[in-house]
Amino acid sequence: MKTGAKDKLLKEELITVESESAAGGALRLEGVGYRYKPDSRPVLDEISFSLKPGEWVTIAGPSGCGKSTLARILAGDLPRAGGGLRTGEVMVNGIDPADAKIAETARTIGLVFQDPDAQLVMGRVEDEVAFGPENLCLPPEVIRRQVAAALEEAGLEERRRDSIAELSGGGRQRTAIASVLALETPILVLDEAASNLDAAGRRRLQELLQRLHRQGRTLLVVTGRLDELALAAPRLIVLDEDGHLVQDGPSDALLREERPLLRQLGLLPAEQRVRVTGGSPSMEP
Ligand code: ATP
Repeated sequence: MKTGAKDKLLKEELITVESESAAGGALRLEGVGYRYKPDSRPVLDEISFSLKPGEWVTIAGPSGCGKSTLARILAGDLPRAGGGLRTGEVMVNGIDPADAKIAETARTIGLVFQDPDAQLVMGRVEDEVAFGPENLCLPPEVIRRQVAAALEEAGLEERRRDSIAELSGGGRQRTAIASVLALETPILVLDEAASNLDAAGRRRLQELLQRLHRQGRTLLVVTGRLDELALAAPRLIVLDEDGHLVQDGPSDALLREERPLLRQLGLLPAEQRVRVTGGSPSMEP
């Protein structure tokens, strides 16, 4: 292709990116299974669900049930290996992330890892946040705008010139969140992204998710604990320890009707019954 034509294509692509609204992310999984090795047990088994653009869902399950594996499959981080370790169909905005180009996935779905250090290079905060948009070769003014907005959303404007190494665990987590926000993807997946945040940080993250939800982003929050942040999502999907999807429905209805199951999976604290001993009530452990 002639350079001129290539430039034109690239320019058209960039204009599309620039003008693309952050809304419009759909997901569909059909009978998805995953094994890390051909002879190991499946980590995920026959998972099927779909999300319409703009839906906000919490995916909850006990430790080791395959939540991070699912998040990584959606973000194209676990390719469909030649040995066919992943089975079933995964569609993110109509494309299988295992077949999508890296840049295509980066524009569609943002994944915040459980451990922020897994995605940060320990440079300055603003350089970390700019890394993704720069990698996509967005125009400089678009990069500046998206980075400034992401730093503001994550409450990091004051720390933009600090080194990541100087930040607390919560600060690094917020930088990881900002670096994903800066890509302005229509779909966001947060894998235990609140685990390093204190109560105020979790509240701020919940408010941020509410704002993103109002903007029409598709949000998946992965968690091992059904706290206030997790239950702010209107829909809840529950996996059991064997990687099966066991519940999918409105969060408030599941919380009302499925408490014993949610407790059994360790997603809610064990019930505390009040025992009356010698006239004064005390909590049973
Ligand atoms: P947690 O809540 O503790 O983070 P999880 O629900 O996110 O757990 P995964 O991290 O997806 O679960 O792991 C599911 C299973 O797959 C676990 O048994 C884990 O040991 C295994 N596993 C994860 N990564 C790999 C890997 N790279 N190779 C082999 N097994 C793996």
